[in-house]
Amino acid sequence: MTSKTRCFIELADLLAWRFECKNCHASLELSLDNLEKGTLNECPHCHRNWALIPTTPLSSVNFEPHFTRFIEALNQLKGQFGDQSVLGFDLSLEIKQPESPAHGH
Ligand SMILES: [Zn+2]
Repeated sequence: MTSKTRCFIELADLLAWRFECKNCHASLELSLDNLEKGTLNECPHCHRNWALIPTTPLSSVNFEPHFTRFIEALNQLKGQFGDQSVLGFDLSLEIKQPESPAHGH
């Protein structure tokens, strides 16, 4: 018989996010307080384009606002929970079960 443990996290369990460069694998870990504008433009180490992607020599598309909205929504929701909460429920998110170290490499 096998049993499966399910993992749930609460919004308050989310501490930081981590951006890892696909090119040089340098990582940038930031608290979830806010995201300063321009932070995700390029890799702080090798300067590869991150979220600011040139489409033509004169224009580019910036994906950073998606991340800014995500963090704003997250912090807004976080503020709805806790001792002062008027909501009639607690929220948790299920995450994928971390793989057992025995299967790692
Ligand atoms: Zn890099």
